Amino acid sequence: MGLFSSLFGGGSTATAAPSYSSVKIHPSVDGGVKPGAPGFSGGTLKCKCATNPVTVEVSAQTAHNHVCGCTKCWKPKGAIFSQVAVVGRDSVKVTSNGEKLDIVDPSAAIQRHACKDCGVHMYGRIENKDHPFHGLDFVHTELSDTSGWSGAEFAAFVSSIIESGVDPSRMDGIRGRLRELGLEPYDCLSPPLMDAIATHIAKSTGALKA
Ligand SMILES: [Zn+2]
Ligand SMILES: [Zn+2]
Repeated sequence: MGLFSSLFGGGSTATAAPSYSSVKIHPSVDGGVKPGAPGFSGGTLKCKCATNPVTVEVSAQTAHNHVCGCTKCWKPKGAIFSQVAVVGRDSVKVTSNGEKLDIVDPSAAIQRHACKDCGVHMYGRIENKDHPFHGLDFVHTELSDTSGWSGAEFAAFVSSIIESGVDPSRMDGIRGRLRELGLEPYDCLSPPLMDAIATHIAKSTGALKA
């Protein structure tokens, strides 16, 4: 056996690709990713409070929906990923019980407006006008009982789930499951979003013409 095949060669017998369907990612994608409905134009997000819930009206289809492994996004109980999408800030309006909202961390780039009673994040907003994503709000469309929202497209900050206590030995299975679902796992954001950030920076430094 040569050096290459001893280092990189596969086994001599072909094995079936393992199925990772028992690995749970997030309730909205565990049964398969649902694509968005054509012409869908939004709905109402509602926090988890049984009485006087905070409601937020989102009057547009979302974009860049993804599952996120970072430690900052709100996750439903038991899920190791959040699911989060973006929408123009002008399409996001608090419609009831807004006095229950509080900013989780006012020093963070994304100001997550959360319900003080149930802890659900209703929307994340960027106030820094120089931020590459200024103008976009981050929302969890699972808080709406309407279907048709844009489907998850990829998985962001996958390695960060270890920071929330997921055992590193589970990562192969988790990345395997994400690929099975068509959610390419990235340890930062997806290439189009990373390119958008880099382009914004290059234009502000003059490396690219604005
Ligand atoms: Zn609430
Ligand atoms: Zn996140």
